[in-house]
Amino acid sequence: MNFQHSDTGENLWFVNARIPRALARGLEMRAQHGATGLGFTDFGIAVDGTLTRDGRGWRRVDLGGRIVLPTFIDSHVHLDKAYTVRRTGIPGGGLLDAVKLSGADAVNWTAQDLHARMSKALERAYLHGTSALRTHLDTPNMPAENAAWQVFGELQRQWRGRIEMQAVALMAIERVDQAEDYAERCRQIRSRNGVLGAFIAPSMATAERLDALFGFATDAALDVDFHVDETLDPAAQALELICDSILRTGFGGTVVAGHCCSLSTMPVEDRDRIIAKVVEAGVHVISLPHSNLFLQDRRRAATPQRRGITAARELRASGASIHFASDNVQDAFYPYGDYDMVEVFRSAVRAAHLDEEMDDWLVRQFSGASAACGFAGQGALVAGTPANIVMLDVQDMYDLVSLTSCDRVVVRDGRPVLPVSFNLRDLFAVESP
Ligand SMILES: [Zn+2]
Repeated sequence: MNFQHSDTGENLWFVNARIPRALARGLEMRAQHGATGLGFTDFGIAVDGTLTRDGRGWRRVDLGGRIVLPTFIDSHVHLDKAYTVRRTGIPGGGLLDAVKLSGADAVNWTAQDLHARMSKALERAYLHGTSALRTHLDTPNMPAENAAWQVFGELQRQWRGRIEMQAVALMAIERVDQAEDYAERCRQIRSRNGVLGAFIAPSMATAERLDALFGFATDAALDVDFHVDETLDPAAQALELICDSILRTGFGGTVVAGHCCSLSTMPVEDRDRIIAKVVEAGVHVISLPHSNLFLQDRRRAATPQRRGITAARELRASGASIHFASDNVQDAFYPYGDYDMVEVFRSAVRAAHLDEEMDDWLVRQFSGASAACGFAGQGALVAGTPANIVMLDVQDMYDLVSLTSCDRVVVRDGRPVLPVSFNLRDLFAVESP
């Protein structure tokens, strides 16, 4: 591990923090910051690590209007593929090329290889302030025989109390055709507290398959997380089949739909009809800007013309649950990235033109992700609970999106995680008696 915790050694009273009002529970909010959803508050961090509403009389630290957020939720990553790009190389074309490169690399995925790469990913996420994370794991075989699931189980235990982790069994949807095999898979996913995942390649979704999938999910009490319509083909409308199936079967679990890129290219009537169904069916949409910008409209020696981001603003305007997540990091699907939710938010704002409602989108990164994945107790600043917060050396949303190297202090259970940046670390400096 390349981090440590520093004891503050005393009760601290932070004044003039700027926080999203919608994420504050039990804190005293003062003046609103202009027309945005950010407001001022003071809060304490007791020596036992609790976030408190009151701490007057404790050592006072003036945050000077800096933004303070809850620790982050990354609702869609692929830990098993992370950091393989130096072996896979870069795809010439889009998603299917990346799938081929990644598939060819899977022979290298020994437990040792997976453990090293997945551990590095968790360390980077932790240092950037992530406290909850949902990863997809390729599951071509049974979870019980799958090295990634075994390593995930070990890491989930090892990281308990630092990163709350969920795993999704990522499987081609057509596996549902083999009923006996699929039922056993679902049982094994259930016994690992996992989530049922499905990758829907173009034209592979049918009403029958989706009804069957939701039936198995119901029997095994599983939530479902799809990779769907990850293409610019306007005819790709599997998202609608998912919604129809939920409404037809009355599926009671939580359903997440990742990507949904074709919503951005299909005729407006189709788009709006499907969005209405997304709202009615209560599907949570997760947009993955990094991999979409990299893989969509990707052709050899050609500059991309289309962005591939789902109809994020239209989904929000219609009342749908939508937020953004990392997806791939340094693999054939996206050769860059660092498990940093601030970077993901910056990319989303710029790629999807979230500028006018930036503060609401910021709130959704916490409330939407918490609801989509069922991370109770994550994504809010709650007085009386352990202080898990991220302090950023910025005072408004423009700087939050602009200052790629701004200082940040990640505080876990009331203690700053080191290495932290330099200016703000001094806030915790304790003078010797
Ligand atoms: Zn993904």
